[in-house]
Amino acid sequence: MGTNIASISPVDRILMGPGPSNVPGPVLRALSSPTIGHLDPEFLKIMNEVRAMLRGLFCTQNELTIPISGTGSAGMETCLANMIEPGDRVLVGVNGVFGARMVDTAQRCGAKVTPVNQEWGRAFDVNQFRIAAGGKSYKLLAVVHAETSTGVLQNLEGFRDLADELGALFLVDTVTSLAGVPVKIDDWGIDLSYSGSQKCLSCPPGLAPVTVSSRAMESLNARKSKVQSWYLDLTMISRYWGNDRVYHHTAPVNMIYGLHEALRLIMKEGVGRRIQRHIRNSAALVAGLEALGLMMVVPANERLTTLHTVRVPDGIDEVVIRQQLLANYNLEIGGGLGPLKGKVLRIGLMGASSTRENVSLCLSALSGALRRQGFEVVDDPQSAIAEAYKEHIYDSSQLGRSSFL
Ligand SMILES: *Cc1c(COP(=O)(O)O)cnc(C)c1O
Repeated sequence: MGTNIASISPVDRILMGPGPSNVPGPVLRALSSPTIGHLDPEFLKIMNEVRAMLRGLFCTQNELTIPISGTGSAGMETCLANMIEPGDRVLVGVNGVFGARMVDTAQRCGAKVTPVNQEWGRAFDVNQFRIAAGGKSYKLLAVVHAETSTGVLQNLEGFRDLADELGALFLVDTVTSLAGVPVKIDDWGIDLSYSGSQKCLSCPPGLAPVTVSSRAMESLNARKSKVQSWYLDLTMISRYWGNDRVYHHTAPVNMIYGLHEALRLIMKEGVGRRIQRHIRNSAALVAGLEALGLMMVVPANERLTTLHTVRVPDGIDEVVIRQQLLANYNLEIGGGLGPLKGKVLRIGLMGASSTRENVSLCLSALSGALRRQGFEVVDDPQSAIAEAYKEHIYDSSQLGRSSFL
């Protein structure tokens, strides 16, 4: 048994779905560096640099800013499990899959959850949360910044003030925004945030960067009950990442090499430039999709630049489209989830996958696949994207302030 099994040789796909995104060569090479001990002084130096770079990326001074061993959902569960004690009231925005997942996870932690519902494909008005709160106090106010299931970007203005009114900690899911869209933990008064390595950071899946404010740390230290999850207990994990270096679980050493290199590449590009790149490529993709005669799901002022949802025209089978793109172009895009299943395509432009070449290829491939099913394409997407790139030149005044610039 086993002797006939060949070594793996996965094809090199172009990843334009909802994640993972393409991983640059230097990150893949870093992953294959020799494994060393998780308490080796060499490794501790790498850990310190990862923490420093994550603080820069999150725009925070938070001492506890570390990658959790696990995917984005482990980051979500870390934030919720460490803050919630049984019976705590939690207010969660639900306008897609990931808000719904937060509700489920918070309930499993014993929270009394008040979901704030909004149509999938639309952002919230902060007053929807204020009304749903009904004048009560809450432990946690939680919202998804970039809803990957719908392509909505949530404006976070006014949420800190509301959290103060509710006496709540403010938690934000930045899985599909961090390193693609501006994320300013300290300026925006965010107490807890988690992300994922495989979306706009362009590292393989397996790590969840998390940042925790001193206010949230105080709340953690004041718990009456132990954190429900042994593995994700930040009181113990922080002692490994802090100066004590107390063993908790073996850090995924090579994954942290990969994250180190991914963060280094982000620094080298500059966060501001990277965000501008996402804006340009997104604008071109949308121009091309609209030229084809397709309709975007999300209104322009609530639209993400890292993940795009576009309606599938009547009579077109989106599964066939995705199969053809994968088979003929090595190109992966995503389908819809939940109420949007079968009705939309999701096109990601995250991190290293956000390139002009990918925008152009995806539109050509999509145009061909739609025609095969009898859809009459309105216009040539290539001239639309050329126009869009002329309008969206790099504008250095838009780069914003970041320690990475
Ligand atoms: C992908 C994603 C998650 C979950 O991350 P996994 O790595 O799949 O566990 C959570 N929230 C958002 C917004 C996501 O896009």
